[in-house]
Amino acid sequence: MRTRLKLLKRNLDRWIYNTNIFSFVLWTAFVADCVYAVMFLLTAEYLFAVICVAKIAYYISLMSQKTEIIQHTKTSVAKMITLWFVLYGYLSIALLTFGLRSGFDVLLLSMIPVLFFLEYLLRNSSGLSYAASAIIAVTNLFIISLNDRFVRDGILKVWQMKMLQSFNWGLAVFLTVFSATVFMAEVFNISNGLTRQNKKLNALANYDPLTGLLLRRPMHEKIDESVKSKRDYGREYSICIGDIDHFKKFNDTYGHDCGDVVLKTVSGLIAGGVGKNDSVCRWGGEEIMILFPDKTEYEAAKIVEQIRRSIEKNVIEYKGQEVNVTVTFGISSSEKHIMSKDVIEAADKALYEGKNSGRNKVSCG
Ligand code: GH3
Ligand code: MG
Ligand code: MG
Repeated sequence: MRTRLKLLKRNLDRWIYNTNIFSFVLWTAFVADCVYAVMFLLTAEYLFAVICVAKIAYYISLMSQKTEIIQHTKTSVAKMITLWFVLYGYLSIALLTFGLRSGFDVLLLSMIPVLFFLEYLLRNSSGLSYAASAIIAVTNLFIISLNDRFVRDGILKVWQMKMLQSFNWGLAVFLTVFSATVFMAEVFNISNGLTRQNKKLNALANYDPLTGLLLRRPMHEKIDESVKSKRDYGREYSICIGDIDHFKKFNDTYGHDCGDVVLKTVSGLIAGGVGKNDSVCRWGGEEIMILFPDKTEYEAAKIVEQIRRSIEKNVIEYKGQEVNVTVTFGISSSEKHIMSKDVIEAADKALYEGKNSGRNKVSCG
């Protein structure tokens, strides 16, 4: 499902940022202004004719940079809000001002936001691009207000004007759908990007990069939850601390990298041996803590004993060498202590006792 969505998004992106589509939009604007320029020349509106020529030059400059438009597509929330306003704001103004019948006007006005949008993507929201787009918008309004004159002065016959209007209506609908699709695709991009960033930040803030286990701070939060659960529902929790036996030996004999591999392997075995409600944390250098939020000391000890055995049996291969590792565990629970810090201290003490009485064992506090 996810890959299918990704594929759909990629195809959509490809279609939207397709050079041909952008060219089409620009060419339509270009042709429309060429027609207007000729009409203004015929009606001796030289100032407007000059404005149309300036706009044509502007379109040509955009056309020459169309590949950059695609390459420089960047997304931000501010951009999306502006884009949305520009796209639909203008369209609403067009409909309100000129009414539904005036398709030609709607076309011109819906053309502006698309150009604004292109400009926006191209120049990455420089003040100049806003100014240029605003000037184009205002001049277009003036030009549109002179629309009737073309019929009145006999430049266009009524049926010709009607034909142009129908054609332009079609284009206006297309441009609106096009803009909406761009908008949706951009929103999709933003939300995807944000989710990815959030995930990354969450991983950085809560998980140890070497072992992938929880860090101390989020573990404290989990312990606090267990304390509340004990207080409110009388649910017992257990805490276990494991410390790799003679860990220095791995570092000293095979190097620090080997130590890291051992640590990772042990972390994986512990994390894989506990239930989905339990939490595993890198408590210290090579000390790993397990929180069983709903298990008594006896129940927890049974699980930890299985984990201890799986670690003992496991053979780690490091650069062709076979390395064996064992871990000593100390456990305590809320059955014996009220404060969570006392449970932790008791687990630590049990671990210490386990170390003193031969290591590679599960010792209860
Ligand atoms: P014991 O059985 O008594 O626990 O012996 P030990 O050798 O494990 O003793 P200790 O706990 O004092 O040694 C911990 C060593 O772990 C010291 C430190 O250099 C090493 N260490 C801590 N963090 C890392 C790490 O991320 N990677 C590696 N390779 N070594 C680490
Ligand atoms: Mg150790
Ligand atoms: Mg240690």
